Amino acid sequence: RELTVELGDRSYPIYIGEGLLDDAGELFAQRGISKKSPLMIITDENVAERHLEKLQTVLVAAGFDVSTAIIKPGESSKSLAVLESLVTKALDAGLDRKSTIVALGGGVVGDLAGFVAASYMRGLKFVQVPTTILAHDSSVGGKVAVNHPLAKNIIGAFHQPELVLYDLNTLQTLPKREISAGLSEVVKHGLIWDPAFVQWCDENAERLTSLDADALGYALFMGCSVKAEVVSKDERENDLRAILNLGHTIGHALEAVAGYKELLHGEAISIGMVGAARLAVKLGASEDVYTVTKRVLSQVGLPVRLPEHLDTDAIMEAMMHDKKFAEGTMVFIVPIEIGKVEINKSVSAALIREIVEQLK
Ligand code: NAD
Ligand code: ZN
Repeated sequence: RELTVELGDRSYPIYIGEGLLDDAGELFAQRGISKKSPLMIITDENVAERHLEKLQTVLVAAGFDVSTAIIKPGESSKSLAVLESLVTKALDAGLDRKSTIVALGGGVVGDLAGFVAASYMRGLKFVQVPTTILAHDSSVGGKVAVNHPLAKNIIGAFHQPELVLYDLNTLQTLPKREISAGLSEVVKHGLIWDPAFVQWCDENAERLTSLDADALGYALFMGCSVKAEVVSKDERENDLRAILNLGHTIGHALEAVAGYKELLHGEAISIGMVGAARLAVKLGASEDVYTVTKRVLSQVGLPVRLPEHLDTDAIMEAMMHDKKFAEGTMVFIVPIEIGKVEINKSVSAALIREIVEQLK
């Protein structure tokens, strides 16, 4: 499958399929990736062990001048310290203005390598080779960043890739929990945009969690398409793009309170989306919005209830630190129907508290 992301005067292709790493040399060349200037693959230890050799071999065979940089897995690698170490590697490998950075990995590698590409010599070409399901989300839209100890994703840029190469075979080595966590954002893309796709997820949940290549290819294609459509209508986050935050207001607070180890991002936003659906019903949406949301998410293996020990006050406190909160009311993405959301700018904190309580 192939789709094109259109952004203003630029566009780039996303290729999704089994065994696409084999075609990397050809696809890179088609997109004008230089064989004369050195290219650097950035990946993490888990991915390097499983998929680096393949990509590296294919690119070397195709005549690219390849170097590699392997980081520690996990969110803590999205730091200025690791960025600096990667710039050191890039200088050592002789990367110049015509060089390309290739991100082989999940969203952590994509965000970090993308920021290296955006900032090294004021910007190099960038290719995404996502290896997690969640990365369908991070590989579309061009947001790249590292974290500051005080705030996530606070040092970043917009930097679009030349292409995205999604080889479904690389996903076969994902841990079960990461599969479900990634599917959370896939389902989210249905919930904000496409009722038929939500129904499809509902009917094909088992194929998705067992990584059936046809089902997964279709789901990633749909997820990327929705994200691409939303982003292309609002590249710089003015208004529409906010709908991508469905489930994230509560979700981010849960991640902060539970600690990033207990709840993966996708798990936290799954609970957040169930909360948003409950809120929607309270505000007048049909009961279906809640039952369908909850059913689909739990069928793909995601939590739909709040861990009992998480303190409601702490969760509310975390939400108040969120920039979306002002004067007792907050901006909330509310699913008014399956496949359709509304940006509600005046949800009261008291109502949110009630929802949080009911999620336990
Ligand atoms: P991740 O990159 O940390 O990957 C999750 C885990 O799976 C890691 O331990 C990784 O080593 C491992 N892994 C990756 N691919 C594997 C494979 N094929 N086989 C076995 N193990 C594999 O996390 P993620 O969930 O992909 O991404 C989360 C990050 O994405 C966060 O930092 C988040 O901020 C970012 N993000 C960015 C955007 C954006 O628009 N830029 C959007 C959503 C999320
Ligand atoms: Zn998210």
